[in-house]
Amino acid sequence: MMAIPIAIVGVGKIARDQHLPTLAASNRWRLAGVVSRHADDLDVSAHPTLTALKAAVPELAAVSICTPPIGRTDVIREALELGLDVMVEKPPAATISEAERFASLARDAGRSLFLTWHSREASGVAPLSAWLNGRTINRVAIEWMEDVRVWHPGQEWIWEPGIGVFDPGINALSILTRLLGPVSMTGATLRFPANKASPIAASLAMEGGAGELVSAEFSFDQRGPQTWTMTLDTDGGQATLLDGGGRLEINGSPVDVPEGTEYGRLYDRFAELVGKGEIDADLAPFRLVTDAFLIGRREQVDAFSWSD
Ligand code: NAP
Repeated sequence: MMAIPIAIVGVGKIARDQHLPTLAASNRWRLAGVVSRHADDLDVSAHPTLTALKAAVPELAAVSICTPPIGRTDVIREALELGLDVMVEKPPAATISEAERFASLARDAGRSLFLTWHSREASGVAPLSAWLNGRTINRVAIEWMEDVRVWHPGQEWIWEPGIGVFDPGINALSILTRLLGPVSMTGATLRFPANKASPIAASLAMEGGAGELVSAEFSFDQRGPQTWTMTLDTDGGQATLLDGGGRLEINGSPVDVPEGTEYGRLYDRFAELVGKGEIDADLAPFRLVTDAFLIGRREQVDAFSWSD
């Protein structure tokens, strides 16, 4: 199998934590260069634009977009015009209409597009999905509580309108919609720091297509232990996903989960999509976020400081 030459656009936290190590360990992909304003410490060359990178590396075939979610249209259009297949970090865009445009641009260009949801590839999710088969889910309780100061140090874009605590919260919603299928937002309270344009916490109520009742508590201000947990009460017992989906317990007992990493599975899936010339652009988690903003009641809380 020939490794596919791929570029990364935006060498920030997630590119360094996950994408670069995953590509280095993959035999399906070969990192051919990056588009970056700062990254001059890598084994591959950094270029100011994708067009410049493609000129220097004509065999470049794909790109993985790791910039913040606001302002991706130009680089995705440029990638498709250069004939590249495109993978995109979550959340896909600033708005639903912008994300829908990515899919139509990819269709028109005849290229593959993968709008990714890395948490769906967490090790416990597929085994949980299999266990749920044939069982009736009654209730789902989500607690996604992390400290923005730890996970997004100094990233001002995280407080742009429409992001805030939904940057991690959308990961829970991606798992939820993978497990339940269609879900609708029935109530939301969004807590905005006095000095920020997006919420630092949210309480959500949702309902699955089969009447499952879902509650979610999201916080970006969680000191001490961090919690990314989803508990599902079913007619056949209780399942709990822990550590963002990395661990699974059934009725309190740990369950074996597959080896491998979220990003390893993401890039395998992208290789499959490229091989088949397909598009995977599921916006279900993103729609729940926009619905939360649509119906959410707003509360003001204390101003946020990175140094508190
Ligand atoms: P980040 O650390 O701020 O990195 C983003 C990179 O994008 C920057 O380092 C910069 O790279 C480039 N960039 C281009 N235009 C930019 C702009 N206007 N403002 C800031 N950066 C710009 O962000 P990140 O945490 O890696 O997040 C990137 C995406 O990955 C987001 O969609 C996020 O939701 C997702 N994600 C993040 C995490 C996490 O743990 N942080 C986990 C999973 C997914 P250059 O310096 O190379 O130009």
